[in-house]
Amino acid sequence: MDRATLQTRFPDVYAIGDVTSVGTPRAGTFAEGAGKIVAAQIIARARGGEVARYQGDGRCYIEFGETQIAEIYVNFLGGPKPASQYFGTTPEGVANKQHFGSSRKARWFGM
Ligand SMILES: Cc1cc2nc3c(=O)[nH]c(=O)nc-3n(C[C@H](O)[C@H](O)[C@H](O)COP(=O)(O)OP(=O)(O)OC[C@H]3O[C@@H](n4cnc5c(N)ncnc54)[C@H](O)[C@@H]3O)c2cc1C
Repeated sequence: MDRATLQTRFPDVYAIGDVTSVGTPRAGTFAEGAGKIVAAQIIARARGGEVARYQGDGRCYIEFGETQIAEIYVNFLGGPKPASQYFGTTPEGVANKQHFGSSRKARWFGM
């Protein structure tokens, strides 16, 4: 499959999430990011416009306790080799993780 577009060898068929072979880990954050890129491409096909290439990037949280949450941003496909940025434990990390969860619960399940 095409790593930049997530298009399979079948026309107009895309792959996202665990089933892809682009080299990103099997994790929800990558499945979600891939879904956004594919959705943007389908919209662009209908309406026109350019879509940025898939970066294979995502943000993960590392929990060391309720008030100790670190963040790491990883980008597997945006450059010549994978890159990451570690943010350590910050008060923002706690709020960001909480928002990450609650915003998705609201969007997907109306909770
Ligand atoms: C125990 C466990 C813990 C994990 N923890 C984390 C975590 O903490 N953070 C994280 O980011 N990721 C985590 N993951 C990984 C994450 O769950 C997956 O990467 C993510 O769910 C992949 O999304 P997906 O849409 O590709 O596949 P899935 O979420 O597996 O969705 C595929 C869907 O397709 C359905 N399906 C399958 N075959 C058919 C068929 N023939 N017809 C119709 N429907 C079908 C399945 O029932 C399923 O609902 C975890 C995975 C496991 C197993």
